[in-house]
Amino acid sequence: MNEIPSQSAKLIVLSVDGLRPDIYRAPEMRRRFPNLNELEKAGASAESVETVYPSTTYPAHATIVTGVAPRAHGIYSHLASLDPTEKARPWCWFAAALRAPALWDVARASRRRTAALSWPVSAGAGIDFNIPEIWDPAAPDPHKDFDTPARHSTPGLFGAVTKVLAPLLGKADPDQLRGEAALHLWKHHRPDLLLVHFVWYDARAHAFGPTSDEALKALESADRAIGKIRDAISRDPATTLVVLSDHGFVPVEKEAAPLVPFAKHGLFARGADGSLALRRLGAVSAGGSVAVYWLEQPTADDRRRLGAAVNELQAAGAVKEILDRRRLEEIDADPDAEMMLEAAPGFSFSDRLEGPAIDEAPKDRGTHGYLPSNPGMAASFIAVGPEIAPGKNLGSVSLKQIAPTLAQIMGLPGDILATEEKPLTLK
Ligand SMILES: [Zn+2]
Repeated sequence: MNEIPSQSAKLIVLSVDGLRPDIYRAPEMRRRFPNLNELEKAGASAESVETVYPSTTYPAHATIVTGVAPRAHGIYSHLASLDPTEKARPWCWFAAALRAPALWDVARASRRRTAALSWPVSAGAGIDFNIPEIWDPAAPDPHKDFDTPARHSTPGLFGAVTKVLAPLLGKADPDQLRGEAALHLWKHHRPDLLLVHFVWYDARAHAFGPTSDEALKALESADRAIGKIRDAISRDPATTLVVLSDHGFVPVEKEAAPLVPFAKHGLFARGADGSLALRRLGAVSAGGSVAVYWLEQPTADDRRRLGAAVNELQAAGAVKEILDRRRLEEIDADPDAEMMLEAAPGFSFSDRLEGPAIDEAPKDRGTHGYLPSNPGMAASFIAVGPEIAPGKNLGSVSLKQIAPTLAQIMGLPGDILATEEKPLTLK
């Protein structure tokens, strides 16, 4: 029999960006990530979580809080601009772009207090204590742009948190800072729901590869931050701790730049200064895939040119699959895209406009964005709390099942969500 959790049931959700379950679960890795492995023993966990397409941070985090696929929640990619010739492209930072109710809306309707830290697609959301993930895309180093998140945070909150973090600035990595900020929010504002986004593993896995020592050291840091948060709530029996991720990661050896053959075949115009300018073709590269858009009705010649450019990418071995509109509808992905190209194993698609179509020695060594059926794209889910069976194996689950599960943990009416998925049985 399922008991209904009390109104005081609190929930902390820690998203470790890019965490593939077989990374922390591998026998030789368990010692490096003691907190993740202890949580797995103490609670219910999935062997794998099937993510969304493209398997990138913004569409996936929007699914985590809404329980629906990108086609339904409206966050089709990380970028809000479809123009690949634009120098500083804005991301989908704003919750107003969500077309489905989020967990924070459900919590607010039940008069529960919410807080979020660096959560994607949360700027301007109805969250009581919010420091969203947002930056000025034209800033020289977006990671050092503090003005933009400060401006979009709950008034006074960013200043209060940076004051607490002051002794650590310049010494701690981004996840240590997020962990300390999360503890501050938890202790001082007592939210019923706290959402936190850890980003350092993803950043290092892109730069050095998902199992590089640099990436694993970043994950050790996230593991320690998770352990500190778990210790802090250990005397609070009504609190559930969930650790999850948005997608997995795979190593890459080659970078393909689809915009280079697109430009070669005349799909962009030339600006007065000689730089490429938008014509009818839009594009968003997501690492493991790239979405292509007709922003205006194409001519037969435009279509022929696009076909020729795609053929070149295929001939270079960079394309595993071409997903047309029908196929994108089947997998609940971007309804605006004319097509998406799925990168071949070992290849990553970039937004580069100039240079060779294929770079055999790219800067980045890892990526995601591939089809959810790629086993390397599997995400993680662990839940530990008073209503959860220890050591329970949930098997393979869907990212869309997480929002209704989180609503149930908090005792919220999950039917406010637009999802058709049922909560996971955690007992
Ligand atoms: Zn991510």
